[in-house]
Amino acid sequence: MTSFVECFGSPPTVTAQAHGRLNLIGEHTDYNGGFVLPTAIPQYTRVELRARPDARVRVFSENVGEHAPMAEYELGSEAPVSDWIDYVQGVTQSLSRVGFRLIGFEARVESTVPVGSGLSSSAALEVALVRAIKALFGLAVDDVLTAQLCQRAENEFVGARVGIMDPMACSLAAEGEALLLDTRDLAYRRIVLPTAVLAPVAIDSGIAHRNAGGDYNARRAECEAAAAMLSVKALRELNEADLPRLKATMPDTLFRRTRHVVTENARVLRAATALEAGDAVTAGHLLDASHASLRDDFEVSIPEIDALVAVAQAHPDVFGARLTGGGFGGSIVALAHVEKALGAARDIAAEYSRSGVGATATVLVPATAGDTS
Ligand code: ADP
Ligand code: MG
Repeated sequence: MTSFVECFGSPPTVTAQAHGRLNLIGEHTDYNGGFVLPTAIPQYTRVELRARPDARVRVFSENVGEHAPMAEYELGSEAPVSDWIDYVQGVTQSLSRVGFRLIGFEARVESTVPVGSGLSSSAALEVALVRAIKALFGLAVDDVLTAQLCQRAENEFVGARVGIMDPMACSLAAEGEALLLDTRDLAYRRIVLPTAVLAPVAIDSGIAHRNAGGDYNARRAECEAAAAMLSVKALRELNEADLPRLKATMPDTLFRRTRHVVTENARVLRAATALEAGDAVTAGHLLDASHASLRDDFEVSIPEIDALVAVAQAHPDVFGARLTGGGFGGSIVALAHVEKALGAARDIAAEYSRSGVGATATVLVPATAGDTS
């Protein structure tokens, strides 16, 4: 660990943080204008900051390893370098573009959010940075604008085509809560999770997303084609009562893609209601049904992920499980008995790793000792 004082010679003046996120249910719905239900995870990113008298930005990250933990640039001259500092540059450029005038600063970043595992370390970094800059300069930036600026940083500067869910979750969801978010208009409602009963679990399958970009874009294109065929702005406009009629008129593949989006949106709303009522069993069944739909109708699973989900679903302390993220590898999310969650997660990871799939699973959530300090 290298402290702020060791990096920059004197202490920081502000500190801010933002948690990573885990989407409980609502997969491949965001780009169809639908619903998602992410929750904050225990791991978070912290940014310490101090102003400089000039326009220079110097940033140190504890999480970047030996090669380039310190990076710098000039405000107003942000230019992508295809490295982690782009997330910082993107944030200062987004703030400038909406009219905030910044001066230079020194910043130190540290994070317990697993990087690149689908728990949104990128949005946690961006949101923590906006919060720190906002505190330092007294900027009038609310939580929704924070999320929008972070999405813009990632879309326009970093060049990653990410939705609004990640920054909205990191900016608005608290631990022990899920954020029921309508991606069509950003309306949201906080859902208090029944934390006396259940805890979220996330396990990495050890299989990197196979050809994730290509398959993701193919599914997006299919959804757009289906919406165009049905003369709706987005598949979100349809509901379950439309499905029998659509089945009779649409090509099978586009119908199944549509059915996933329509039923998934309905499941998100039902899961939010179930969680608010403390009904872990119903919420779990909805996760199971989500997985079946992602596997059979949306076709974004792979045998290894199906195996990991099956091991989780069979565990006695698990209410339900499904793949999370874009698919074709990556991680699963489960809801487990609160007191047994870490043990269950470890059992599941061990059984999967032993089962001959040829990959090793890693428990991401609950955080293991040291992840939340
Ligand atoms: P995810 O958001 O799922 O973790 P992404 O690929 O979207 O994965 O973002 C990961 C990238 O974000 C990292 O490769 C790095 O460039 C940047 N990043 C995230 N957290 C940090 C951090 N603490 N310090 C420096 N860079 C970070
Ligand atoms: Mg990200």
